[in-house]
Amino acid sequence: MDLCSLSITEARQRLGRREISSVELTQAVLRRIQDVDERVHAYITVTEETALAAAERADRLLSEGVDAPLLGVPIAVKDNICTRDAPTTCASRMLTDFRPAYDATVVGKLRDAGAVIVGKTNLDEFAMGSSTEFSAFGPTRNPYDLDRVPGGSSGGSAAAVAAGEALGALGSDTGGSIRLPASFCGVVGLKPTYGRVSRYGLVAYASSLDQIGPFAGDVQGCAELLSVIAGHDPMDATSLDWPVGDYAASLSTDVKGLRIGVPDEYFGAGLDPAVESVVRSAIRQLESAGAEVLPVSLPHTKYALAAYYVIAPAEASANLSRYDGVKYGLSEDGADIWEAFAATRGKGFGIEVKRRIMIGTYALSAGYYDAYYLKAQRARTLIKQDFDRAFEKVDLLAGPTAPTVAFKIGEKMADPVSMYLTDIFTVTVNTAGLPALVVPCGLAHAMPVGLQLIGPAGSEGRLLNAGYAYEQLTAQAEWRACRPLMTAENAEIAEEN
Ligand code: GLN
Repeated sequence: MDLCSLSITEARQRLGRREISSVELTQAVLRRIQDVDERVHAYITVTEETALAAAERADRLLSEGVDAPLLGVPIAVKDNICTRDAPTTCASRMLTDFRPAYDATVVGKLRDAGAVIVGKTNLDEFAMGSSTEFSAFGPTRNPYDLDRVPGGSSGGSAAAVAAGEALGALGSDTGGSIRLPASFCGVVGLKPTYGRVSRYGLVAYASSLDQIGPFAGDVQGCAELLSVIAGHDPMDATSLDWPVGDYAASLSTDVKGLRIGVPDEYFGAGLDPAVESVVRSAIRQLESAGAEVLPVSLPHTKYALAAYYVIAPAEASANLSRYDGVKYGLSEDGADIWEAFAATRGKGFGIEVKRRIMIGTYALSAGYYDAYYLKAQRARTLIKQDFDRAFEKVDLLAGPTAPTVAFKIGEKMADPVSMYLTDIFTVTVNTAGLPALVVPCGLAHAMPVGLQLIGPAGSEGRLLNAGYAYEQLTAQAEWRACRPLMTAENAEIAEEN
C-alpha cells in the first residue's frame, strides 16, 4: 500500500482503526520527500524532528481513544504562514533567518486538530507571482512534468500534495495563488470567502485580498481542512463571525436544480481551446447530473487584471515597508540610516518584489493616487457588483481557472505582463472577496486542467458539494489514471517492497 497516496479521509479512517500508525504514515511521507524533493523542490524546510514527535504524540492519543479531526495526518504549510518551531522565510533573502515568536492562528488550529506539520513549502517571494519561480531558493517543479511550473504562488503546497509529499497543505490566495497551482498540479484547492479564515500570522502581501485556504487530493480532504482552519479570530479584525460548518459531513452528490452560471467573459480570446473544451465538458457533465446551466455576463471582467495589479502592489508597497533592517529580518550596514535601508532592501528583495514596490509606490504617490489607486478601487466596486447581479440569477459560476495548462519553466520570466495575464480568471474573485474552489477536470496537452467554481460570500459548503458531485461523477474517468511522475514511480517501488 502506498501510504503517500492516501486521501486525508482514508488516512484518518486507517489511523482510527489503528491499521497504520501516524509514525508509519509520517515516515512514509518523509521518505517520499527524501526521494523526490531534490527534483520537485516543494519544500523550503522539512521539519522532520518535530513532525515525528507530533506523530508519536498522535499515536499515543489514538491509543487512548482520543479523536481529533486531523489526528496524525501529515500536512504541509506555505512558508509565508508563521510557525514558532520552524523558519518562516517567505522565500525571501530578507527573511532567510526569521523565526517567528508565535504560530499563525491556522497553524495553532492545525496543531489543536492533531495534524502533523511536515514542513514549510516553497512560494514566489512574499507570494508575488504565478509560477513559484520567484523564490530566493529556486523554483518548484510540476510533478506532472518537471520542465513545467507548478503555478504560483503556492506552488510548493500544490506540488507537495500532487507528489505525495504531504496529504494536505495550506496556501494563501491573493489573486489566485491557491487556485492556479491546484489547477496546474491536478489537486483540489479552495480560496475561502475573505474573512472566513484568520489572517493572523500570515505574512501580509495585500491585506484586503489575502486569504488562507486548503489543498488536498480530493474535495473531502479540502472540506475537512477548511472546517479546522475556518472561524472567527479576535486577532484578525477582518475575520468573520460566521458559524463554521462540518463541511465534510454535509457533502452530497446532489446537484439537481443547482443553477450554474457560465460567464461569457471567461471564455474569450486567450483561452487555450484545449483547456476550453475540457472545462466545457465538465460543465456539461454537471448539467447531465441535473444542474441547470445558464449563460451570465460579468462585463467589468476586462478591468479586473489592471485594477488588481494596481491595488495589490499598492498594498504590498505599504506592507513591505516594515522590512527596514531594524526590526527583524536581514540587516545591512550603511554610513547612515538611509544607506542602511537601501542596502538592506536592495539585497533582501528579489526583482519581482522590487517591481511591485515601485509600481505600488508610484500608484499611491500624490498626483497619481486618483488616476490609479482610486480608479482601481472604483473598478473593484464594479467587478463586485457584476458578481452580485450574477448571483441573483445563479447559485454559482463555473469556468476555467487559467487560460492555459502549466507553462514551461522560464517561459514567462522575461515578460512580467505575460505572467500577470495568467491570473485573468482568478483575480476577480479576490477583488470581490468571494470563495472559489478548483477541482481537477481533465487533461489538455497531457497536463491537468482545473474547473473553477465561484460562489457568493459564505457559500463554501455549496461549492464543496458541487465539486464533490463532479468528483463522484467522474470517479472512473480515464484521465484520473494519469498520475504525477513521482507518485507512479514511488507507488511501484512501494509495491515491490
Ligand atoms: N499571481 C498573483 C500575484 O502575483 C497572485 C498571487 C497570490 O495570489 N498570492 O499577485
